Amino acid sequence: MAAAEAAQTGGLAAGVCWDLSDLYASPDDPRIEADLAQAQAAAQRFAERHRGGVARLSADALALALTELEALGELAGRPASYAQLLFAADTSVPRHGALLQRVQERASEIRNTLVFFELEWVGLDDAVARALIEAPALATRRHFLESMRRYRPHVLAENEEQLIEDLANTGRRAFSRLFDELVAALRFQVTHAGETRELGEEEVLAHLYAPDRELRREAARALTQGLRSNARPLAFIFNTLVQDKAVDDRLRRFETPWASRHLANEIDAASVDALLAACTARYPLVARYYRLKARLLGLPRLEDFDRYAPIAEKGNTRSWDEARASVEAAYRDFSPELADVTSAFFRRRWIDAELREGKRGGAFCASTLPSVHPYVLLNYTGNQRDVMTLAHELGHGVHQSLAAPRGLFEQDTPLTLAETASVFGEMLVFRRLLREESDPEVRLALLCGKIEDAFATVFRQVAMTRFEQTLHAARRAEGELAIPRVNELWLEANRPMFGDSVALSDDYGWWWLYIPHFVHSPFYCYAYAFGELLVLALLRRYDEEGAAFVPRYLELLRAGGSDTPERLLSRVGLEIGDPGFWDGGLSLLEGLVAQAEALAGD
Ligand SMILES: [Zn+2]
Repeated sequence: MAAAEAAQTGGLAAGVCWDLSDLYASPDDPRIEADLAQAQAAAQRFAERHRGGVARLSADALALALTELEALGELAGRPASYAQLLFAADTSVPRHGALLQRVQERASEIRNTLVFFELEWVGLDDAVARALIEAPALATRRHFLESMRRYRPHVLAENEEQLIEDLANTGRRAFSRLFDELVAALRFQVTHAGETRELGEEEVLAHLYAPDRELRREAARALTQGLRSNARPLAFIFNTLVQDKAVDDRLRRFETPWASRHLANEIDAASVDALLAACTARYPLVARYYRLKARLLGLPRLEDFDRYAPIAEKGNTRSWDEARASVEAAYRDFSPELADVTSAFFRRRWIDAELREGKRGGAFCASTLPSVHPYVLLNYTGNQRDVMTLAHELGHGVHQSLAAPRGLFEQDTPLTLAETASVFGEMLVFRRLLREESDPEVRLALLCGKIEDAFATVFRQVAMTRFEQTLHAARRAEGELAIPRVNELWLEANRPMFGDSVALSDDYGWWWLYIPHFVHSPFYCYAYAFGELLVLALLRRYDEEGAAFVPRYLELLRAGGSDTPERLLSRVGLEIGDPGFWDGGLSLLEGLVAQAEALAGD
């Protein structure tokens, strides 16, 4: 089926769309307004009772106040979750955008009413705070209370916090939304085999995985062309948000552009630097693999659009049902309990997988609220990578589901642990597919696919982090950046990774323009490298310990964000503070490349 036609009919996952009625019936559901109003009134009452008095609360009273806050957060979070999901499902409907905006504005009012609480808590003397944190009545709130206080040097006065919050709706958040709308509306003209088609971002990117080299070349050209012709507004958004961050960092006294992310991730700069350095030192492994890939494809050297070319043409497309069966079976092999959690996503329609115009690109799993359940969005085109994406997002889904009993404040982990269950799920599915496959050619293709995914998760994300580091530094030193300057920074960050193994064209210089992480969450990307290498270390534990590992792993997932990543991981025997830690996972990746070389040698 032609891709354009597939898009109209929903593609291979046609009809697989989520049911948001567990949140609300429709954007006009009167309960949306009712919940917002109730949350606002509850916030007001809470403020009347506690404003100016947090320092005088006993442990019991503080425990009660937190329970109230949590209930209030659930109430206010429901419309927010719904509006975000509705908008992601179809960004082109104006009332979806309008609802999102309305809900964000109301959420800001509520946040502003309550911000005093955090500021007063953070402002308490250490000794007083410590006594409360250690009180038995607050045992289940301990990490939440403790971790809030890490912002002590960075919070502002109440009226300043309120001002920033209000202005974000017409500033940072508005630009972020504009980016989503622009990218979702992009159309790329692909001319192939005498036919010209208009494709969305997801479909044009999917063609980079096509066996036909001319189609890949044309998809790359079309992608560049589409990005170039929209570069002005997109680059303007980038420049604005990078500067917005610089201002926020200045006001909040963060010394580097990445410091706030490290703090949010509950990780110190030294650990991240050790991760980045360990990965950068292994860049030659990337070149080694792409030289092998060039040989397998019969090319003297790869062009940038050859990076994702499939190694074998067969076994490349999977129906939605096949993908579902593979993923469920792989989870079941590992743990029936995990598999049961994933099954609910399919049965109860918590997944949106079909291709639709106006739908957001990429994939995500939204935890929504502990009292509801997570929702998964992906754009299923049927290649092996999409199967992995499904496994990945369901990994997030099981993690969030298992951690839901921790409640609103401790369900979600910092980003550093957020990619653990997702990448682990991918590895489970990969191993099962490899085990079931007897054809050596397809096995090699699977292995190469996994290597490429792992490289995309480790080395590519490290290169992206390097790019962001230089981008933010350049904006602070040089003022608003011209597009060619950003293109240059993008190429400079990517070239060392490929060495001479892949020719990066000037066209490739434009490809930073569509990457949402740079817009939505600066310095997110290293968390992927962190997650992948962590998972390789966990897999090694699993291989060593067998079934005994499973309950400990589930315990890690159930813990959610109830402690620092370092302490949670230490409970499963991983010491991320150890500077040599990252080399363990990187060596496993090298092993995969050696395995592919051996298979290719025959
Ligand atoms: Zn993820």
